[in-house]
Amino acid sequence: MNIVLLGPPGAGKGTQGERLAARLGVPKIATGDVLRAAVKDGTPLGLEAKAAMDRGDLVPDAVIMGIMKEALAAPTAAKGAILDGVVRTTPQADGLAATLTSLGKNLDAVLLFEIDEEELVRRLSGRTTCEACQRPFFGRQPGETCTEGGMTGTLVRRKDDEPDAIRKRMQVYRDQTSPVIDWYSTHGAKLVRIDAIGSLDEVEARMLGALGIS
Ligand code: AMP
Repeated sequence: MNIVLLGPPGAGKGTQGERLAARLGVPKIATGDVLRAAVKDGTPLGLEAKAAMDRGDLVPDAVIMGIMKEALAAPTAAKGAILDGVVRTTPQADGLAATLTSLGKNLDAVLLFEIDEEELVRRLSGRTTCEACQRPFFGRQPGETCTEGGMTGTLVRRKDDEPDAIRKRMQVYRDQTSPVIDWYSTHGAKLVRIDAIGSLDEVEARMLGALGIS
């Protein structure tokens, strides 16, 4: 199954995407994770993306298309993939559709995580992220150690989780990403709305129920 996760930053796409990917036995493709790893390693991709990411702006569509194509063509994605934060503009939605067609694949569903902005700001401003495995934590401080996923990493506050960047990301979501919802509605995709407020288990149950996975 190929599934796109849509929704504003902090809605829980990454965490739920990881659970869904494990459940379906397919990889999770998260452009944000790929870009952060490139920034950390100082690769040309990272150098190109860093300033836009730190401000909370989007990186250019062409950069995202390259990451998306490579990840979807990988043998590990043969049975499908969970695309987390990959489609953030209508040109990216067009590009994903063309890529899937060229690879002989379909888009099975688009899950839209819905949550109000006040809750998002509260979540993001209290979030720390593991530098090694990229897992988010709430209520844990920068500098603490994470040992999840067989790796040891330090928790950091992402630059784009600072207040100014959070505000910018919300505005970018409203202006550039929310039109993607209409794009999928008018292009015949199976668009499913998920109430993203609740415990991780509650939201997971809603997501699996919406997909008909028991
Ligand atoms: P995320 O981890 O999904 O919140 O992404 C972090 C940042 O990476 C975003 O604020 C953007 O700067 C960049 N980014 C990730 N995915 C995309 C995308 N599909 N299009 C443009 N920029 C992206």
